[in-house]
Amino acid sequence: MRTFEKNNSVRTHFNKTKIVATVGPASSSRDILRQLVLAGVDVFRLNFSHGSYDEHQKVINHIRDINEELQINTAMLVDLQGPKLRIGVIKGGEIFLEDGKELTITTTPCEGTIDQVYITYPEFPKDVKAGEPVLIDDGKIKLEVISTNREDKVLTRVIHGGPLTSKKGVNLPHTNVSLPCLTEKDLLDLDFALLNEVDWIGLSFVRSVTDIVELKDKIKLKKKQPKVIAKIEKPEAMDEIDNIIDMADGIMVARGDLGVEMPLEQVTLTQKLLVKKCLAASKPIIIATQMMESMINNFSPTRAEVSDVTNSVLDGADALMLSGETSVGKFPVQVISQMTKIIATVEATSYQYDRDSIPPSNPELKFIYNSIFYNACKMSAQANAKGIITMTHSGYSAFRIASQRPKASIFVFTDNKNLLNAMSLVWGVRTFYYDKYESTDQSIADTIELLKEQGFLMKDEVVINIASVPIYSRGKANMIKLGIV
Ligand code: PGA
Ligand code: MN
Repeated sequence: MRTFEKNNSVRTHFNKTKIVATVGPASSSRDILRQLVLAGVDVFRLNFSHGSYDEHQKVINHIRDINEELQINTAMLVDLQGPKLRIGVIKGGEIFLEDGKELTITTTPCEGTIDQVYITYPEFPKDVKAGEPVLIDDGKIKLEVISTNREDKVLTRVIHGGPLTSKKGVNLPHTNVSLPCLTEKDLLDLDFALLNEVDWIGLSFVRSVTDIVELKDKIKLKKKQPKVIAKIEKPEAMDEIDNIIDMADGIMVARGDLGVEMPLEQVTLTQKLLVKKCLAASKPIIIATQMMESMINNFSPTRAEVSDVTNSVLDGADALMLSGETSVGKFPVQVISQMTKIIATVEATSYQYDRDSIPPSNPELKFIYNSIFYNACKMSAQANAKGIITMTHSGYSAFRIASQRPKASIFVFTDNKNLLNAMSLVWGVRTFYYDKYESTDQSIADTIELLKEQGFLMKDEVVINIASVPIYSRGKANMIKLGIV
């Protein structure tokens, strides 16, 4: 019987802060995907705002194949587009909108001109009010609503004009958008993602906790187990952020749309607040968008981008995400190498380790295992332990331990195959398959032996095992063992 899968390390150094890379034309070949994994990618994002099922299927197959070949656990995150608003195609490909001119936005499909453009949002004339801003192309163009016929046409004035090309995104920061969070396209995309058993589903433009509940219900109906990321890119989401964090399995600070929907100077503060909240709630958090934007065209990042990456690691993010840099950029592999290097440099310092999480004290049901995780981390710091070894079926202990950001490596053994790749998104966590339930002694010996064999632990290093006694009850953690390899 196979008790664990070999997990030969193909990279000599593993950062704790993970990297999410968006796949696109610049990176969809098996060869580039493989190079990206070797350079440091932990999670691939398949962005369903772009690409055909055929293209996505090929990428999914390549990633599974590479995981098999390298015996590694790269995760897949399918990003559902959500209610993203766009204008239609522009006649001749490009027009120029002059400041002060009037522009009609219509819900009747047409080719866009300087007088009239189409929007992919049938309820727009009913939802919008005079005086509200309409932002196009990441806010590069700003219009203001003059009037609406509440049926099919909205008259606007160009406040900041400029060149406009086909299918650019539209943001309505002050409008109550009545579209559902899961569009018809999202439902089809979700079916495709579930069929392919991807590890994470990202939901765009989450406005309320009910958006997450709705998605989770759909996943449950299909009897699948991907975890759900709430992409925070609408200011409304911040009004119920604690409930959203509680209901979602992870959070993405989607700084691209967020920076258009809220004043730019608030985005960094929002990032820091969200990281703090996610650490306290033991939920993984991804910082996304324009981290190394200039590398879409250039061979090296700007000083400001390196600062952004450095600060995001110091904030305590679980993962940093690249979009255009790896999907359409000229240097996808180089971007990952650079980011890996920056992260490694920050992690060689001691700034972001050993978070002061609130010690668990109230004697509720969770008290025993939460106390075990908390104290295992404290003990690992005090004993300068090399590793913390835990067993989990739900992943809870891994999330919990990781959120304390211990300097020791977090080795997670699980009999739940769904977790093996999924946990690659989580700070510091490395997973291994293990399904023996003979005795606690046996499991502790097995796990240490396996890690030694694979070069993760060496003789005389201090190691901590978290376990549940008696093992046959398959209960939650209730024991910490401090030992020497
Ligand atoms: P997107 O999400 O790339 O799907 O738009 C990220 C963001 O808005 O920052
Ligand atoms: Mn977005």
